[in-house]
Amino acid sequence: MAATILSGKDLAARVRDKVKAGAAELAPRGVTPGLAMVLVGEDPASAVYVRNKTKAAAECGVRTFDRKLPASTSERELLDLVRLLNEDPAVDGILVQLPLPRSIDPRKVIDAIAPAKDVDGFHPENLGLLALGTPRFVACTPRGCMALLHEAGVELRGARALVVGRSTTVGRPMALLLLHADATVTVAHSRTRDLPAEVARADVVVAAIGKAEAIRGAWIKEGAVVIDVGINRLPDGRLVGDVEFAAAQARARAITPVPGGVGPMTIAMLLENTLDSARARAGGARS
Ligand code: NAP
Repeated sequence: MAATILSGKDLAARVRDKVKAGAAELAPRGVTPGLAMVLVGEDPASAVYVRNKTKAAAECGVRTFDRKLPASTSERELLDLVRLLNEDPAVDGILVQLPLPRSIDPRKVIDAIAPAKDVDGFHPENLGLLALGTPRFVACTPRGCMALLHEAGVELRGARALVVGRSTTVGRPMALLLLHADATVTVAHSRTRDLPAEVARADVVVAAIGKAEAIRGAWIKEGAVVIDVGINRLPDGRLVGDVEFAAAQARARAITPVPGGVGPMTIAMLLENTLDSARARAGGARS
């Protein structure tokens, strides 16, 4: 039986409606959720991501502060801008779109963002809180994956979960979230010896590699749930995930499509994190 398609598009629309309602509730208290998005340089994919985030924010009543800087921007100039945004009371969330030009150390920039405004969840303090099991801002993509699993009613307690990829933005926080949900978690990466065997054991597979269809459908255990984070453009222009979709769909119980799966959830979670931060401001809880 073909797998159920876990539509991130539909769930994200519902999350955005909730954010819109939450933003409207804050209005009488004089608080409008504010999200600053910093884009340095001309990376076309980054420009599209920022445009999509700006559009979604506007539809939800989240005010955006777009800061577009030339590729020639120095690290010092960017750090100064982050400092200004940290101090701006109208800004609840700060997102610096990655990748940055090579002359700028992304770690230094992320470290400079006030943790209480780090709606991307990449700051060491927020990653640390997540590791401790007391998260504040959780990285948007893993948070979106968890929301998809929750929506699909997937029982994670005791399940064998495999995360393929160990980036600090996706794989690592994803593994921690699954662990906190009582799954038995394995993290695979480029040095993993026998990836097909790891995949074949997993009840839940989260693929975050960045290689088109690297996870073959035949590896998937019958009845497994597959969350495909990958976004890869083929030479013919098509977008595909990290999982060989059609063959995996024939074996899995549920699977996310690419596009229309994890991608829209990432944006929705960014808006939810921004709303959470604005609520903290409204309640006087943000230092
Ligand atoms: P990344 O930083 O490049 O990390 C890739 C990870 O995959 C690394 O840990 C790497 O292992 C591992 N890997 C590479 N080749 C492998 C292989 N053949 N077998 C097993 N593991 C392998 O990428 P990322 O930022 O996590 O992103 C991963 C993918 O998700 C990309 O396609 C990206 O575009 C997509 N993405 C999508 C969203 C969304 O909203 N849908 C958000 C973020 C990212 P090592 O650590 O050993 O190098």
